[in-house]
Amino acid sequence: MNTRLFRSVLILLVIACPAVAQIKEQNVRAELSFLASDAMQGRGSGTVYERIAAEYIGSQFRQFGLEPGGDTDSAGIKSFVQQVALQSGATWNAIGVLRGSDPAGEAIMLSAHLDHLGVNEAATGDKIFNGADDDASGCVAVLELARTLAASKRPRRTIYFVCFGSEERGGFGSQYFIDHSPVPLTNIVADLTFEMLGRPDAKVAAGTLWLTGFERSTLGPELARQGAALVADPHPEQSFFRRSDNYPLALRGVIAHTISSFGLHTDYHRPSDEVSKIDFPFMTQSLNSLVKPIQWLANSKFRPAWLPGQAPTR
Ligand SMILES: [Zn+2]
Repeated sequence: MNTRLFRSVLILLVIACPAVAQIKEQNVRAELSFLASDAMQGRGSGTVYERIAAEYIGSQFRQFGLEPGGDTDSAGIKSFVQQVALQSGATWNAIGVLRGSDPAGEAIMLSAHLDHLGVNEAATGDKIFNGADDDASGCVAVLELARTLAASKRPRRTIYFVCFGSEERGGFGSQYFIDHSPVPLTNIVADLTFEMLGRPDAKVAAGTLWLTGFERSTLGPELARQGAALVADPHPEQSFFRRSDNYPLALRGVIAHTISSFGLHTDYHRPSDEVSKIDFPFMTQSLNSLVKPIQWLANSKFRPAWLPGQAPTR
């Protein structure tokens, strides 16, 4: 092939191959600003505000073209919200499904928690725990990955997008989901839980997220090899691997880790965890680094595994 022809073919190839869809900062900002607004009263676990958060997230999932994974009503219509009865009251999960083509039913799961600490009426000054970073940021990560992945070619593995209720009060939403999983847990080849990634962590390189339990399995290193801006958790003394919704799944054998950039900021579990503190360009850029690696994971035959002696036992 002569140089001129080669160049034309190259240009045609570039035009023909659609670029990987990108997460837009305006969408990150829109969803996060709603979830962490004062109107949502801190999305207290088991409150009507947590339920509204679940309905909102489910409504977005519907807009993105996902299948509903929640309850079926008396008319036989399936919704995106799953109500979970608790000892007193209830909690709500939001579940959307991007159905894959794999006849064996392999799946991956992307998750976060939609509840936070609500309102402290006894506090002086700001009483609302907005939870912009914890964990509106994680819900927005799940939402925007859903939007982007649903807009691309149908994956081989089914992807479950799940936002859990009542994490802050004891992980009730995720526990129920695990005990009543819509897919056998052995079919879930990986779970990525998203927690507090709205602000950069000064302990890692700029634009980078970290993965809890990075050294325990082959998942983190492989995602990093595929281009994810993902490194090991720089705060091992905090035991973050055991402190989120990934952990009960990991205890059941699922390769499950949490992605975060929590730099131990002092707004943690305080009313000052506000939208104004979120670094939207950072959040958008670092999430965008995950799009291609997650697409790869959803389409590859790669099955992550615990390294010898690294599966959690209790
Ligand atoms: Zn959290």
